[in-house]
Amino acid sequence: MTDFRVVVIGAGMAGLLAGIKLKAMGIDNFSIYEKADRIGGTWRENTYPGLTCDVPSHHYTYSFERNPDWTRHLPPGPEIQAYFERCCDHYRLRQSIRFNAEITRAQWQDGRWRLTLANGETDDADVVIAATGVLHHPSTPAIPGMADFAGALFHTARWDHSVALDGRVGVIGMGSTGVQIISALAGVSCQLSHFVRTPQWIMPVHNGYYSEEERARFRADPAALEAYMDVVTYHRNVENYTLGITQPDSPGAQYFRQACFDNLESIEDEALREALRPDHEPMCKRLVFSPDYYQKIQHPQARLVRADIERIEPAGIRTVDGELHELDVIALATGFRADQFVRPMQVLGANGASLDRLWAQRPVAYLAVSMPGFPNFFMLNGPNGPVGNYSLIDIAEHQWGYIQQLLERVRDQGPLCATAQALEDFDRERIAAAKTTIWYTGGCQSWYLDAEGVPASWPWNYSRFVAEMKTPKWNHFGVES
Ligand code: NAP
Repeated sequence: MTDFRVVVIGAGMAGLLAGIKLKAMGIDNFSIYEKADRIGGTWRENTYPGLTCDVPSHHYTYSFERNPDWTRHLPPGPEIQAYFERCCDHYRLRQSIRFNAEITRAQWQDGRWRLTLANGETDDADVVIAATGVLHHPSTPAIPGMADFAGALFHTARWDHSVALDGRVGVIGMGSTGVQIISALAGVSCQLSHFVRTPQWIMPVHNGYYSEEERARFRADPAALEAYMDVVTYHRNVENYTLGITQPDSPGAQYFRQACFDNLESIEDEALREALRPDHEPMCKRLVFSPDYYQKIQHPQARLVRADIERIEPAGIRTVDGELHELDVIALATGFRADQFVRPMQVLGANGASLDRLWAQRPVAYLAVSMPGFPNFFMLNGPNGPVGNYSLIDIAEHQWGYIQQLLERVRDQGPLCATAQALEDFDRERIAAAKTTIWYTGGCQSWYLDAEGVPASWPWNYSRFVAEMKTPKWNHFGVES
């Protein structure tokens, strides 16, 4: 095929990766469609105070494009966004990105994909790579009276920077986001209230600074940076973490559990300690890492509120114990709808197959990458892939290695997608494994669970994922057009 064309949807971390790798393959006939006016995905949309990734900075980069300039051990959000902007320029991707261009429909017809944009324009491609992200659609709770609030109220992924934060601020939610915001605003807001329905375990972590000398050394000597990173140990830690999830009695699980228990015991105030004691096993929800939440919530101007929220009133939040918490600002750190993936885009495959219909109950995909009936439609960070306390960049790179092999075969031999049998077998095994993970057995609710209460994330360890991504089992793929 001489005019072989690829369309990538989304210019976040994964879409940029696809662009870089397509170029490296010699495929220049591609476009990246981005509905926003800037690259960055998660790191463009989240700008809340204290925004940090809890993956060690030097491991939160593409493996082929290290960043010697991280200022902290955990990467601050604005530095991550700046890193991706630099990558975009360095790999000359901007000319291939169409900004403010939302694809609303993708339809497989006559052996190619026909893409329709929100403005009515169309494009055609042999292959579509969906790189639309996982935690992308804010989950906004239906708390009675929300519309009546007289102050400023917004979801944390839609932070309103015109709003002053030195007044009375309420933060709802104790996931990674809520915890980071509390740490950032303690002592800044004259009164900071943390509304916590379900306390989470907190894994202690150090977040120091890299000195200018260290950064200069990493800049001058990439080998010194690689040695410092110790990739082998990092991957061993990821393996142990994933073993902790899949085998709750493993030493890895015990290590994390004990560290969380000890961390909680560091709170001397018994009433506060008990108010923050989770009712579920560590790692059941995605583990929250924080260097200082337990200290910051004890700041004289900060307060933990454990009473459930009854409603929001013009003046603030009324809890079920009758107390009105008067507030100027309410931040909803209430998480994301993790079941959407490429939706609301309409994706129509061969013989009228509709992704929306197939995913009505729960999103699935063979190895998180391919769907039967959807030839040449491949996903980065699609349903059932690994999403945990490790770098999604690393995960996307492994997935790209797999997708690249699919692409080469498509280019040489024509359309392909996973067979229905392959997906059925994979999903049966996945669900059985998912029910043995700590996400299922640990007794908690979380965004890992699908509508039927089954963990949707990759239920095996990291090394199994790496092994699966090495080479496609070609007998699991077929042609349906
Ligand atoms: P989250 O982990 O889903 O937490 C949502 C929080 O909101 C929970 O505490 C939940 O309480 C609470 N909540 C939801 N609806 C509520 C309601 N009606 N009333 C009271 N509380 C309510 O969301 P997140 O903190 O935004 O984090 C989502 C994911 O983003 C993380 O797990 C992580 O994968 C990613 N993230 C990563 C980082 C990082 O450092 N890498 C930073 C931020 C986010 P319940 O537990 O009771 O439901």
